[in-house]
Amino acid sequence: LFARPWDFVKGCVRIDDLPPTDRTEIAFAGRSNVGKSSLINALTGRVNLARTSNTPGRTQELNIFEANDAPLRIVDMPGYGFAKAPKKTVETWTRLIHAYLQGRPNLRRVFVLIDGRHGPKPADETVMNELDSAAVSYQIVLTKADKPKAGELEKIVAKTDQIIAKHGAAHPEMLITSSEKKDGIDGLRAVIAQLLAT
Ligand code: GDP
Repeated sequence: LFARPWDFVKGCVRIDDLPPTDRTEIAFAGRSNVGKSSLINALTGRVNLARTSNTPGRTQELNIFEANDAPLRIVDMPGYGFAKAPKKTVETWTRLIHAYLQGRPNLRRVFVLIDGRHGPKPADETVMNELDSAAVSYQIVLTKADKPKAGELEKIVAKTDQIIAKHGAAHPEMLITSSEKKDGIDGLRAVIAQLLAT
């Protein structure tokens, strides 16, 4: 699946811009600067497929990635939770995300990326609440796991697990990744392959 050449297809600013629901979708969500672009690049083995945004929150689109006839589509959701976002930007984001999560029957799972240096922030919990109410399957992915010092990561994992436990019944097990060290990327690929197989 990830040996294929993945390409950027389009950026969608409105729900009507989305491609047809002809294949399984997975989506990636996370606060700006969480390492979402880096993770998508590591996953697809492309150096600069998802553009790392140096301007936090600049990308206000659902970015679509596909690989030829692969039975999977990757959706890069706009980063959220950046402090200085104008209210109007937040409103536009919320409306787009809400519409996408509520009305996408082929969306199999959202990977919610959480910065492994800090653990969940309030904005992450807001998104988890949104996913709970949309009844969309989601899985937490800790990013930048190479950053915390020994011992610190365990604390962050424990704290994150506690927060996940507050959100609904069963959730797939949290993934721990480092795009920099390429740790946990094979695990993420295996989860995605499993989703497609069932
Ligand atoms: P995005 O805004 O969520 O798309 O985040 P980016 O992928 O652009 O990453 C934001 C910053 O975090 C960049 O400076 C990356 O180099 C850095 N970063 C991303 N992933 C990792 C990682 O696994 N380890 C470390 N140490 N830094 C990372």
